[in-house]
Amino acid sequence: MNDTDRIGRFRFMDAQRVNLDGFAVEDESLGLIAFSAEADPEPTLVLDAHGNVVEMDGREAANFDLIDEFIARHGLDLSVASEVMALDDVEFARRIVDINVPRAEIIRLAAGATPAKLARVLSRLRAAELVIAMTKMRARKTPSNQAHVTNRSDDPLLLAADAATAAAFGFREIETTVPVLGDAPSNAVAVSIGAAVGAVGVLVQCSVEEALELELGMAGLVSYAETVSIYGTEQIFIDGDDTPWSKALLTSAYASRGMKMRVTSGGGSEALMGAAENRSIFYLEARCVSLARALGTQGVQNGGIDAASVSGSVPGGARSMMAENLMVMMRNLEACTGNDALMSESDVRRTSRTHPIFIAGTDFVCSGFGSIQRYDNMFGPSQWNSEDIDDFLIMQRDWTVDGGLRSASEPEVARLRRRAAHAVRDVYRFLGLADFDDSWVEQAIDAAGSKDIPAADLMTPLDASRIIRQSRVTMVDVVAALDACGYEIEAERLLAMLHARVDGDYLHTAAIFDEQMNVMSLVTDANDYAGPGTGYEITGTRLTELNGVRQQRSVSDLRDEQAAAAGNHFTVVGAAAAGSDPTEVTIGVSAATGRAIWTTLSGLSVVDVLDELLAGLEEEGCRGRIIRINDTVDLGMIGLTAARLSGSGIGIGLQAKGTALIHRRDLSPLANLELYSVAPTVTPELYRALGINAGRHAKGATPEPVRNPYSDMAIEARFHTKVVSLVAIERTCLSPELGPEDLELTR
Ligand code: CA
Repeated sequence: MNDTDRIGRFRFMDAQRVNLDGFAVEDESLGLIAFSAEADPEPTLVLDAHGNVVEMDGREAANFDLIDEFIARHGLDLSVASEVMALDDVEFARRIVDINVPRAEIIRLAAGATPAKLARVLSRLRAAELVIAMTKMRARKTPSNQAHVTNRSDDPLLLAADAATAAAFGFREIETTVPVLGDAPSNAVAVSIGAAVGAVGVLVQCSVEEALELELGMAGLVSYAETVSIYGTEQIFIDGDDTPWSKALLTSAYASRGMKMRVTSGGGSEALMGAAENRSIFYLEARCVSLARALGTQGVQNGGIDAASVSGSVPGGARSMMAENLMVMMRNLEACTGNDALMSESDVRRTSRTHPIFIAGTDFVCSGFGSIQRYDNMFGPSQWNSEDIDDFLIMQRDWTVDGGLRSASEPEVARLRRRAAHAVRDVYRFLGLADFDDSWVEQAIDAAGSKDIPAADLMTPLDASRIIRQSRVTMVDVVAALDACGYEIEAERLLAMLHARVDGDYLHTAAIFDEQMNVMSLVTDANDYAGPGTGYEITGTRLTELNGVRQQRSVSDLRDEQAAAAGNHFTVVGAAAAGSDPTEVTIGVSAATGRAIWTTLSGLSVVDVLDELLAGLEEEGCRGRIIRINDTVDLGMIGLTAARLSGSGIGIGLQAKGTALIHRRDLSPLANLELYSVAPTVTPELYRALGINAGRHAKGATPEPVRNPYSDMAIEARFHTKVVSLVAIERTCLSPELGPEDLELTR
């Protein structure tokens, strides 16, 4: 369309953030379709007389690709296969949602379902049904959350301080990565130390190339792994010089050393790599999830992940990403449910994408909440970042939902950041890895991000990493160094993590540690949701943590705030009588004005407001008289009472919170002349203008009304709790038996 044909409304809409996102027309030839492509196979499963799979999802065994072959051999419970394959799709879908069908029964059935069968059944679930199904089907009863802790400079001090901060906010897994591959060992050490400073039992991974990631795991420098990627078409495995068998070997390698790991998939990646075979995003992901089960891993990170914006670009894409997660749960695997790579530039849209999963609760609501700032997130910005931590905490409080996070106090975070940075400085010096100067340490403690640390030396992590690898530093060396440098607590915590690998209990599905190093998993903390009154209940100290956000204020907090601005400016002259001077305009003030409330919602002192009103009246040649109205908190009545005592018949009403109006003695209480209803936005100039207009009314003129200023702020959200408290304070100051009183104002 030509610019000349456009209209303001659409130019304005185009400028909104959601229009920075990309939206694709469904195109099966590119794999840009969420559910049910033409080329998706019909679910079939045929066994021969020996119980071998001879056909699966419309393909004969002779034509199986690598993925089919692996799933057919290792991924299906054939004892239940004929039962579930014969089950009607809608009937199966209903059982998934039905609170009277136990989770275990769904797990039993799903184990025999082919990828095409599960894809077709789950495509039948609506958004609200996905929420209920997820609530019931996740493995671990207690939800949790995973953080990204990275920064652009791989600064070890900042990594440690930020890992401690993430642990303080409640994250139970921390994932780091590198912009420079060579920095990985240093990052693993720094984040592990920081996490141990922050809390007991926080798991740490360093997401890098698979061989190096395994090496870090073998050396104990990290405590779990996640970046073993699998795909839904054979071509991408071949392009990556991989097979399901090589991934199975890697999976076993981690298990052999008692180390937790999960694989990563996520719908849309096949389309992104141009090898979707005309299949739908969801069907290909169903193959990945079946493959994950067959590999013997305990969990899956999916839900779009790096291709979240591909899934997000097609109709139904957000629903398919959530259904991917549910499919993982139905395979009885740990679900690390995406909400990871940023899907949208729009705050509304990204919240909408996460919210149903957040409400349902999963093993890890985010598989990578950027607990650092967006610009420091070396995976790219996350769906949620440190910019959003307060929002997330308040969402938990709003919905009484445990999203895995908790509030952390500023003094406590400051203490932890200092200890974490000092621990890394001391350990790096002890092990001969690096020397950090004091200004770098101090900047890292205070920093909100790497831009705040000009003292950082970018070669330090690279040098430290080279020494770690060359001298084969292991976590045992780090533990010994911490102990030698006086960090016994952190040494104990990291040693306990190594000990847990010998125990092996955290190889359970969906295992995390609580802060007493107890394993919480499918085995020890199994989800038993079966409708209201069952499943995960938020109680006791956890409820207090969720509700106690740092921003909450009580009436007594507000009283203290007001008292801090207290002054002795008003003297009662005596009972107020009706005036006779036609140039007199009365200003009726509320009962609490200058007694319990001294500051208005816009932050002005009530004395300054009165000065502006009086000065405005004076400009019009009028004389102001201040009267306290003791029997009502209603602004209309305050203004009208003042007007009835005024010589001119014009009165101004002023509540201590700053709301003001002009009244006339012959009007009804609610029918005032002019009203400033939005107290938080009223400036001194506007109070002056109100005084001027009151003077003009007194002289019988009809002035142009003063308008409330333009505002797009959430005034009500910001001030209503204060208003409730201020009105409560006004009420305590009422003395109904007392008539209006003349006041003298002294500065
Ligand atoms: Ca992750």
